[in-house]
Amino acid sequence: MTSPKRAPQPVPSDPVERLAALRHEFGEHGGVNMSIEASTTFTVMEAGTMPEIFQGRLGPDDGGCFLYGRHFNPTVYVLGRQLAALEGAEAGYCTGSGLGAISCALLGLLNQGDHVVASDTLYGGTWAMLAEFLPQKCGITTSFVDANDADAVAAACTSRTRVVYTESLSNPTLRVANLPMLADVAHAHGAQLVVDNTFTPLAMTPIDHGADVVVHSLTKFVNGASDFIAGAVCGTSEFVSSLMDLHVGPLMILGPTMDPQVAHAISLRVPHLPIRMIEHARRAQRFAEGLQAAGISVTYPGLAQHPDHALMRNIGRPEYGFGGLLTIDAGSRACAEALMDDLQNKEGFGFMAVSLGYFDTLMSCSASSTSSELSDEALRAAGISPGLLRMSIGFTGSVEQRWQQLERALGRVGLL
Ligand SMILES: *Cc1c(COP(=O)(O)O)cnc(C)c1O
Repeated sequence: MTSPKRAPQPVPSDPVERLAALRHEFGEHGGVNMSIEASTTFTVMEAGTMPEIFQGRLGPDDGGCFLYGRHFNPTVYVLGRQLAALEGAEAGYCTGSGLGAISCALLGLLNQGDHVVASDTLYGGTWAMLAEFLPQKCGITTSFVDANDADAVAAACTSRTRVVYTESLSNPTLRVANLPMLADVAHAHGAQLVVDNTFTPLAMTPIDHGADVVVHSLTKFVNGASDFIAGAVCGTSEFVSSLMDLHVGPLMILGPTMDPQVAHAISLRVPHLPIRMIEHARRAQRFAEGLQAAGISVTYPGLAQHPDHALMRNIGRPEYGFGGLLTIDAGSRACAEALMDDLQNKEGFGFMAVSLGYFDTLMSCSASSTSSELSDEALRAAGISPGLLRMSIGFTGSVEQRWQQLERALGRVGLL
């Protein structure tokens, strides 16, 4: 909305270079950090301009001003631009939660009677939205398929399919989405590819591989401190603007607004996201290799044995690693719970908590927590066994100290 007027420059292809190329926002008094625009409304200088502002003809760059905080806030917009730069999107805007971003992106692309083809392995809340909320409330239906099976995705597309939906890295099974394939199938059927890139900021940039829209839960890695719920939508300028339409824009009408104080706090953490992602991944890789060598059933896309290792090497950005999540199959729920208990309460290795992307390690049993929205049948189809323990690897403590804690706990529960 307020893109600075300067000579067009080539956009770098590297996400960190794109981020550095953004105009730096100084504080109101020249502070190195931008100020927080803590206002829900903006002053019109001349009465006659108010109607023109409402008709969208006079933005802040044309002598008008911003409208209202639910519609647009300049501090929230700066964080949106940072996300757009990371993703290589024309535009981005932030929301009060990841699910707010996902629901607005979907409702921006879909009308009553439209159809979605989605991966059968999705974050539980997204799964519930597609499987239950959207059909009941909006008459929008979804077919769930194995998103790595090109024939299954194509076969599920109908004349009403407008969206193909996947997560870059599936939760909690850690399968890598074949983005070029999904983009081809979606576009051949007149649909758009929407990718949830929450698990792999920087490590994957889906727009480079044909995605049309990228959504994020900023609650996770981007934030990094597990203190705010937040989300973002990235896509073309036209699409992001359409989400703010005063009549049918889901961001405007449903109102999942991000608070500018939250946008300010998160925007100060984006510059060190690359360093954090590299360290999460370096440690996850080290632990995954150690676990594998010890004969533990471990899944991590950075392992050569992972079914999608070559794919992620190809379409990912290996310089940022293979993500911060790994899973261990402990064989049974009881064993997985004993292991988590020991790791938290005897070793201090991490915490039993859902969510991910925190600086400390977080551990949860997916089947009985973040994937519990799925039916038993859906859990089986997705390959989520009761003993599957998901770990979001943190970066506190020394690597050796953490590895020894993990080894001792594995020994005590009988896995080593
Ligand atoms: C957490 C999460 C969401 C939902 O995000 P909220 O910020 O909790 O609304 C969506 N997708 C994925 C992959 C997630 O991990």
